[in-house]
This record gives sequence, C-alpha cells and structure tokens, in this order.
Amino acid sequence: MVARSVSFRIAGRVPIGGGQPILVQTMCNTSTDDIEASVAQCRAMAAAGADLIRLTTQGLKQVESLREIKRRLRAEGIVTPLVADIHFLADAALAAASVADKVRINPGNFAREHEVACAKFRELIALCKQSGTAIRIGLNHGSLGERITQRYGATPLAMKEAVMEWLRMCVEEDFFNVVVSLKASNALVMTEAYRLLYAAMRDELGCLFPLHLGVTEAGNGDEGRIKSAVGIGTLLGEGIGDTIRVSLTEDPVHEIPAGRQIVAAIADGYCPRGGRTRVEASDWNDFIIKASCLWGPSLLDKKIDDFPLEGSSIGGAPVPAADGERFRDMLLQACRRRFTRPEYIACPGCGRTLYDLESTFNEVKRRTAHLAGVKIAVMGCVVNGPGEMADADYGYVGEGRGHVTLYRGKTPVLRYIPQEEAIDKLLELIEGDRK
Ligand code: SF4
Repeated sequence: MVARSVSFRIAGRVPIGGGQPILVQTMCNTSTDDIEASVAQCRAMAAAGADLIRLTTQGLKQVESLREIKRRLRAEGIVTPLVADIHFLADAALAAASVADKVRINPGNFAREHEVACAKFRELIALCKQSGTAIRIGLNHGSLGERITQRYGATPLAMKEAVMEWLRMCVEEDFFNVVVSLKASNALVMTEAYRLLYAAMRDELGCLFPLHLGVTEAGNGDEGRIKSAVGIGTLLGEGIGDTIRVSLTEDPVHEIPAGRQIVAAIADGYCPRGGRTRVEASDWNDFIIKASCLWGPSLLDKKIDDFPLEGSSIGGAPVPAADGERFRDMLLQACRRRFTRPEYIACPGCGRTLYDLESTFNEVKRRTAHLAGVKIAVMGCVVNGPGEMADADYGYVGEGRGHVTLYRGKTPVLRYIPQEEAIDKLLELIEGDRK
C-alpha cells in the first residue's frame, strides 16, 4: 500500500503537509484574558514571521477573549492563523471550534471515561468539519493517561498507540484536517515516538497526517536550542515533520528565528544524510544549531560516541576551544550520552503562568549550576507542570499567584510556599538529600 500524504490549508490559507514548506510556530505566554498584551505579543510574533500562533484557552471565558484578539488582529491586517490551546475542557474545545483556526487538544483529557472522551471528540470533529477548523491532536509524554500506561508503560510505543486510537476515529469520520504531535522533553523518547507513529500511519492507516514537532520543556539559552535542534533536526533530516515549535523559556518571539535556523540547517545539508562533515556558521547560534543537527542524530542513535570540532568555523574563524568544549558537553548531554551538568527541564510558560518564570528559571540555573547530573524542573503551573516535568529529580512548580510547590520526584514535599523563599528551600531540599 502506498501511503498518501494528507495536506490541507489552515484557515483556508496556510498550506500544511504533503511536502509543503515547514511551518514555524510559537505560543503566547500572556494571559489570554489580557487582550491588549496578547494582541501586542501576537503582533510581534507575526512581525517575526510566525506561521501560526497558539494561545492558552482554558475555558469559555478565554474562548471569548480569543475571539476579540482575533477580531483586533484581523482589523490590523494580521492574518496569521490562531490556535486555541485546550487542555481539559471539551466544552471549551467545542466553543473554540468556531473561533480559532485550529484547536489543539488531547482528547484523552476530555473525560475520565474513554467512551465519553470518544463521544466528545466525534462532536468536535463534526463542528470542525462545519467550520473548516483544523485539529491538532497533541499528546505529550507527560500527559499519557493511565489507561494507556497500564498497558504500555510511559514509553514511545504508548504515545504512538494513544494517538493512533484518535487517528482511526478521524479516518472513520472522514476528517483529515488533522495535525499530530508527540512531544517529550527527552529527545530520545520524542524521536522514537514520532518514528513509530510515522511508520504506523504509513503501514496501518495508509495516510500520513502532518506532524508538528517539538521538544517540550527544553529550557532556554544554548541548552534549549541544542535540545530542540537535536530532536527536531533528527526527524526533519529523515523527512519527518511538517511544522515545528522550538519551546524556549524566553520571550516567545525568540522561538521563531531558532525554528527557522533549524529548518535552514537541514535544507543546507546539516544532517547525517546531507553529506557535510564540518560546520560553517555565521554566528554562535547558527553554529550550535547546525552542529546539533549534524551530529545530534548519530549521537542519539549511538552510531558515534563523539564528534570533531576541528575544521568548524564561526564567521570564518575557528571555533574557540573553550566554547567548543562547552558545546560538546551540552550536545552530549542533550543526546543522553554523557551527563556533566545539571539537567534542566523548564516549560516555556503560557497563559496559565502566574509568576516571572523566565527570571526565576535563570536564578535557579545560577544557584544550582554545581549540581552535575541532577535533574531540576521549573514549571509554570500546577495544572500541567507535575505531569509534564517527566523524570525530574526535583520540581519547582508555580501554584497560584506568588506561590510555589516543591517536588521530590513526583511527590510534593513543600506545598504552597511564598515564591521569595522557594529557591532557598529548593537548595536546602537538594543539599539535604545529598548529605
Ligand atoms: S506547564 Fe503550565 S504554565 Fe507551563 S506551558 Fe504547560 S500549561 Fe503553561
């Protein structure tokens, strides 16, 4: 059977899938109810070249805010498709279907009972068919339901199986305006999940739905870009993926150039099949992204144990030795080959974040830089944070305005403490465990 590639236009305008150019998207970290701030951020994202913009849409109130944000943007002539990010409420998804250009859901979260979730999903499909709205089935490693993990564990196979249930339903309903994502903070888990899904769509469904790629909770700075380039670049280099997001705990506008650099690096042959052996980069960010796309896949798949830095250049000059070694440490760690630094897992923040995530994360990094090998998560909200922080040893999770709960593994150990005390307490917790 020859699989067909599904392609369609989001908002009737932006083509996706079937070999169309890779779309680069980002997500607002404003409160969706703060319409002024959200419009301003969308404006900046559109100016930076975002192909799609996602906004947190927790409930019906935010659906109305999204409606107003869209109205104002369109009035300004900004036509970038808007995606409603729904986490749990099926009713919010149903309402958003007539407002957003795409609705991002994990249908498994719609209800505890699988049959109820299925019924709601079919209802959503019917509405999206009427309104021409696309759906992204977004299933993260950290949000796998018990029904699936009891059978398959929290594995890439479980992620693939969970999504295939919903895709079969889409095929039954003859609904193909669908994009799928299977993100994880671990590039190894993420790449494996997408590869399994790609093969299952090809061999079982006979149609390849467009895939949205991303490494969740990648953090910020060099590490965030390297982790994302390894995960996303590995798959793009294999011809898998139609749209991407580089999730950074930074101003989300920064995600756009980072995403474009990954797409450009692959197009320029910086992948194992691309025939390149040395990196020629214009600046540092260009270097770390190209080098991660080139060597990351082979490190991840254990085909090589190390990589050469000699011969690579930045702006025509050799890569400075100390910078090169720092990059080596970061890339080997991103590929889960050698742990020489703390491992940070940090969400990018969104409309649910009620504290200054970016500066807090930087402070946590500064104060814990000596803790090599320790996995520390910094998450914006308690709704998704604990589930999404994967296999972190410790978690710093926002809980309401100005308060934080600290976790040891998956267990909350200090609840609802004032934010001003939280980093000290986190250090005390970690140091106490190491004595
Ligand atoms: S963990 Fe919470 S705050 Fe962070 S991106 Fe996810 S939903 Fe938003």
